[in-house]
Amino acid sequence: MSGRTRLVEKKLGREAAHGMYVEGTNVLYVDPRQREKQRLMVTLHEWMHRHDLASADAHARMEDGDEAAGRAIEEADVADHSRDLADLLWRLGYRRVRL
Ligand SMILES: [Zn+2]
Repeated sequence: MSGRTRLVEKKLGREAAHGMYVEGTNVLYVDPRQREKQRLMVTLHEWMHRHDLASADAHARMEDGDEAAGRAIEEADVADHSRDLADLLWRLGYRRVRL
């Protein structure tokens, strides 16, 4: 979980998700076909999965194939936290500038 987070834009239609994080990498995938506020929320959501801390026991279960077992933060909480932070940043006026 070291190094800077990379964001890769990728159409994720088949995965039926707006974003995706693959455990053990530093890459977040975000579908470019979404509105800006949703994109912000999804970026925060996947970033939170990347930095989710888990116990050694949970990691062992992960290595046995249960990816979600390595997570300490419940999916519903990740969704709530990322929505709340995206909403806060949006209300504060943060927007993406394309450079
Ligand atoms: Zn999630």
